[in-house]
Amino acid sequence: MKKPAKKILFVLLAIMILFTGTSLANIEKISDDPWEHSPITVYIDDKDTPEHYSPTYREQVEIALDYWEKGGNGALSYQPVFRIIDNPDADINVRWVENLEKVEGADEGVAGYCRPTITGNKYLHAEIVLEVGNYQGFSWVQYGDANMQEVSKHEVGHALGLGHSTDRSDIMYPSYEQRDNINPLLLKSTLPYLIGALIVIVTIIGYHGIGWRKMRKQRKQIEKDVFESKK
Ligand SMILES: [Zn+2]
Repeated sequence: MKKPAKKILFVLLAIMILFTGTSLANIEKISDDPWEHSPITVYIDDKDTPEHYSPTYREQVEIALDYWEKGGNGALSYQPVFRIIDNPDADINVRWVENLEKVEGADEGVAGYCRPTITGNKYLHAEIVLEVGNYQGFSWVQYGDANMQEVSKHEVGHALGLGHSTDRSDIMYPSYEQRDNINPLLLKSTLPYLIGALIVIVTIIGYHGIGWRKMRKQRKQIEKDVFESKK
């Protein structure tokens, strides 16, 4: 490969990496203000509960709502105000199931999910489903209050329009403890960047492949020169 071509390839690669990097920081928000009204009503279903439900779980959801009312992770551009009502027709509906994989057919290792009903970029309703425990190996492990609180905070964050964060310390980071299903909206918005990352990888591999072939060519030339000079 000639030198100018090499330079162009490097510049292209740098642009691609930069583009992918800056884009990843933007994935956090699905909608700026999905509810557009206040207060946001919440129904917490602690009546129709699964076998291993703990009465302390409801409080964890209330703490999670409080967390977001007080600013949460700082990613919201509006201040949500919640009102807990005793009516399932609320904006946000929270309920528990014994095991998400079995009851809801969710992906393995999923601890909770939020399913918003959307028109345009407005939320009409959001369904938060939390499981009360999971199989770890062969034994059933019930979630403690701390775990329930983390998962609740994370799911309420989704219900407020936030996607996943790439920051490990952020409540919206899809960490091991708060594994939830991949938000289809988020997947849709990250797909172009995944493709971008793939192009970068292919380019790097391609570049190294060309370099290797060039080296082999040079080596053959050297070998040829050496053998010919020996004659
Ligand atoms: Zn999530």
